Amino acid sequence: MKDITEEKDTVAEKRIQYILSELKDIHEKADLNDERIIVFCQPVYNIAEECFDTAEALMRLKLEKIGMVFPDQFIPMAEEHDYIHTMSRIILHKTCVQIRKFLDAGLVVKRISVNFSIAELHDENFCKEVEEIIEETGTPYEKVAFELTETQDEGDFLMLKSRIESLQEHGIKFYLDDFGTGYSNFLRIMELPFDIIKFDRSLVIAAMNSVKSETIVSYLAHMFSDMQYSVLYEGIETEEDEKKCIRMCARYLQGYKYSKPIPIEQLSEYLKKSA
Ligand code: C2E
Ligand code: CA
Ligand code: CA
Repeated sequence: MKDITEEKDTVAEKRIQYILSELKDIHEKADLNDERIIVFCQPVYNIAEECFDTAEALMRLKLEKIGMVFPDQFIPMAEEHDYIHTMSRIILHKTCVQIRKFLDAGLVVKRISVNFSIAELHDENFCKEVEEIIEETGTPYEKVAFELTETQDEGDFLMLKSRIESLQEHGIKFYLDDFGTGYSNFLRIMELPFDIIKFDRSLVIAAMNSVKSETIVSYLAHMFSDMQYSVLYEGIETEEDEKKCIRMCARYLQGYKYSKPIPIEQLSEYLKKSA
């Protein structure tokens, strides 16, 4: 019994070491077209427009020896070893290239959002680097959005705010990701100029399970709407989730009910042709 457990541990450890060595290589090569980084995408439903005109880019790794690797198995490692920014640049580049292709094909895409960790914005070259990537691909700035998650230590807050504002001046929209999952410094984070608040799936589940939670979630969503934020609910799996979130002031809906994350090229199947 012990032998089998030990064997499993060794296999798991070897897998981790392999992923880590690939991440290191991706970081060192810093090739914006690195084929090991794959962009998946999840279409987002726009309730007022009754169509899918935005989407979220989600990273996958495709490694020779083990195939497709999902974010929970490599994002924490990439963050810990400071490789994440190189990977974000690759995802941003690939997403922009694809947005340009959709636009050239006459498809309506309002924007696609890319995930960044707040720590990345502290790098003094952040704005310059992302501007270069977006411009070099010929993608209009307003077609790109950045998703940020609250962190315990947001570092130099005023600098962070000014970086967001300067990118927003170009037309880049900012999403507050995972709202409802640990807001110790909620008032502070709300001083940042977000455009869209993404309500985490845990809030959808809570609202389905108790009237009290539903009242709170609905109240928060109305408050954000009154303050000119758009509310997006994540993790919509069923028609009941959908109905409830529409009643709770949703502007956008995202979840398996509409589509699982798909390779970004396949997003074309969800987009309308421009008139
Ligand atoms: P996230 O940003 O909150 O992304 C949404 C996650 O929820 C995705 O998991 C998506 O597949 C999953 N999801 C979508 N619809 C549903 C649903 O209806 N029900 C349930 N239960 N889940 C749903 P994924 O793709 O495995 O990504 C996990 C996390 O990894 C992301 O959470 C994000 O924090 C991180 N991540 C993914 N791509 C990137 C990236 O390019 N950069 C960074 N920094 N983080 C990323
Ligand atoms: Ca996200
Ligand atoms: Ca999220």
